[in-house]
Amino acid sequence: MRFFQFAARFLLCFLLCFLAWLPSRAQPTAAVRVLVHPGTELLQIIHLLSDTAQVAESTYNAEVVRHFAPYRRHPAVLAARRLSRAISCDYPVRLSWAFYDFPDLKLATMRPEHLDGYEQEMPLAEVQAYFRQCLQFARDTRFVEFYHAHAPQYGSWVQEFEAGLKQQKLLETIDRFYRLPRHRPVALTLGVLNCGSYAMSDLRGINPALPNQHTVLVSYRQLVLSQDAPAKAPRFRPTAQTAQLVWHELGHTYLAPVFARHQPEINRLAYLVRQDPRAKQWAAARGGWSNFLNENVAQAVTNVLKLRAGTLTQAEALASDDFYIYSGELAALIEHHYKPAARYKNFEAYFPVLLRAFAKNHPATAAK
Ligand SMILES: [Zn+2]
Repeated sequence: MRFFQFAARFLLCFLLCFLAWLPSRAQPTAAVRVLVHPGTELLQIIHLLSDTAQVAESTYNAEVVRHFAPYRRHPAVLAARRLSRAISCDYPVRLSWAFYDFPDLKLATMRPEHLDGYEQEMPLAEVQAYFRQCLQFARDTRFVEFYHAHAPQYGSWVQEFEAGLKQQKLLETIDRFYRLPRHRPVALTLGVLNCGSYAMSDLRGINPALPNQHTVLVSYRQLVLSQDAPAKAPRFRPTAQTAQLVWHELGHTYLAPVFARHQPEINRLAYLVRQDPRAKQWAAARGGWSNFLNENVAQAVTNVLKLRAGTLTQAEALASDDFYIYSGELAALIEHHYKPAARYKNFEAYFPVLLRAFAKNHPATAAK
């Protein structure tokens, strides 16, 4: 009998402890996974062969060129050279999630909303037709064999990158800062040929096999800034750039719903585009005022996190930037008013205060 009382007490204690532990674990948040996406690799291999795109350099490029040498004049490679818009670091690579069901690769039919404003420069029909040729390239060249042969290498990059996330406590730090749940799973795609990093907060069902996710393209070139990169085997070990990349790009995940819920206040500040030529220039380049402000807030928070982690000095963290022109002053406001133990429940509770303080710094001038 004694034993049963003890066992019951133990069980109750265990249950209570478990329940106490649950809310803190359950609050945040959707999973973060790191991967090398076959669709992205396929497109970038074609772009490398076409000699018309900027790509990051490493020994991987030589392996690609060697392996695919017989297909340098494949219709997909020739089509890449003739696209109506130059291939950039993010476009049309950002649409590579339209390829799915690897190894039996398929191509989804993209809709206008997947183009994220780029349709002005490259019509949807053109992208879709080009991607069909890329799918044919995958079949003709047996791309799947190349991908499988490199799977151990891809796996080691994923492991190194995940180890860096843990070692630098990047996810815990950003979670603790925003104190908001991540509603969507996050996919960090390692792009060894990619020259730029970017985030897509909403893939809007770009393919039928994919639940919506927040996608971050991690560019190898931005992690490894060295002259001898072409002669080096690519690695995804943590560098000083990893924190910049993860904190900035993941910041957009937390900010997307905050911006959606505070759109009227954000729109009221759009007069800045009319009175500040730099804001006008960058807002136009970045798909409008709201997106541009989002970039500045994501970077301001990144600066604050680096300052608090001791990897930036105060002067560096609060300095402005050629593109993120408001990030320094936003960082100063955030650092001053949004301390970990401050009165705000989370970053969203503070966000309207931040916008008001920012507006005070930039009053609307008359006649604008
Ligand atoms: Zn950004």
